[in-house]
Amino acid sequence: MEKILVLTHADESGSALSKASLEAVTAGLELAARLSAPLTIGIVAADAVAAAPALASTGARLLAVSGEAFAQARYASDAAAAEALCRAAEATIVLAPGTSRFTRVAAGVAHRLGGFADTHITALGDSETVDASRWFYRQRIEAVIRRDTRPWFLLLDAGTHAAFAGASGTAKVEEVAVQLPELRTTVSGFRAPEQGQQTIRPDAKMLLVAGAGWTKKQPDGQIHVTEAAELILGFLHATGASLGSSKSLVDQGGEGESVLPFLTHMNQIGQTGATPRHAKGLSTCCHGEEPHVVGWRFIGDRRAISLDPNCGWTRGKADVVYVADAFPVMAKVNALLTTKAK
Ligand SMILES: Cc1cc2nc3c(=O)[nH]c(=O)nc-3n(C[C@H](O)[C@H](O)[C@H](O)COP(=O)(O)OP(=O)(O)OC[C@H]3O[C@@H](n4cnc5c(N)ncnc54)[C@H](O)[C@@H]3O)c2cc1C
Repeated sequence: MEKILVLTHADESGSALSKASLEAVTAGLELAARLSAPLTIGIVAADAVAAAPALASTGARLLAVSGEAFAQARYASDAAAAEALCRAAEATIVLAPGTSRFTRVAAGVAHRLGGFADTHITALGDSETVDASRWFYRQRIEAVIRRDTRPWFLLLDAGTHAAFAGASGTAKVEEVAVQLPELRTTVSGFRAPEQGQQTIRPDAKMLLVAGAGWTKKQPDGQIHVTEAAELILGFLHATGASLGSSKSLVDQGGEGESVLPFLTHMNQIGQTGATPRHAKGLSTCCHGEEPHVVGWRFIGDRRAISLDPNCGWTRGKADVVYVADAFPVMAKVNALLTTKAK
């Protein structure tokens, strides 16, 4: 019989589990119920005991690795923690959130245990075996993987499962001792864009995509980059949406053309960019070409505003296309959002 372990880690607070970890807990509960297999949840955190009550209602065995050494992501300490938890749980299937923290150590830990790791798992099937799905070739081909090797590490893509949200209660946590190797890396802190400047928001309900049209000559023969920037940022500010871009628009920066200063290649959606998951998406001033649209694979409701009635979006790629000038449309939308907020 399989023994399932869900690896979790704390968020920035150090005492609550990250959202991606809670999503992995949901996946673990579903898989354990389906296979009638025992479930263990392992917590890696500075204060794992404080994080544990949120898992009390899972009914799972709770193991924890705690201490200041585990407050920060660092290969040596995280790998040691994950290895110790896997050994204590005698896990055959290890589910972990595909966060940078666990993605970095999963292959190494799997190797130490003679196992195997697969990444970007989006679903675990519905049969009595473990069928792990992932997408290849930039989300164009879906594969279902089965392996005999154990332990089998499955790193789950964020947004593929609902975050576990059971009632908090008294939790019995078994502390697992970790033999730490010599720690050569000292984490001195984080450097991140200031809050408000960050435009990539994976947890947002909506994605706004800006295409190259925003910086092209408009019917009056002029470009209107400043106005475009104000409209885009105004919408993001009012809605909390995440900002994506077409490749053409972010490439323009390197080509010396007018650019929107807040866009980088990190915003790029598509074959050579990201494939985010949002309930809704609004594409503006973008042609809807296949290499871009393939990045919209996991966007629920897709809408587009383009001047071109023959653009790719109108050819069955969007649910709704507004054939219109995005400048006045977005100005009106922002005005309505401002009125609504008052
Ligand atoms: C190997 C390869 C990989 C690629 N990978 C990616 C990728 O990952 N992501 C990606 O995005 N692209 C990718 N591309 C490029 C892709 O094929 C397209 O060239 C690109 O996505 C087009 O970007 P765009 O629609 O922003 O610009 P354009 O093609 O220039 O289209 C601009 C659109 O804006 C519209 N417009 C202009 N003004 C307005 C206005 N006022 N109101 C409304 N609409 C307006 C125009 O009608 C036009 O449809 C890749 C290409 C290749 C060959």
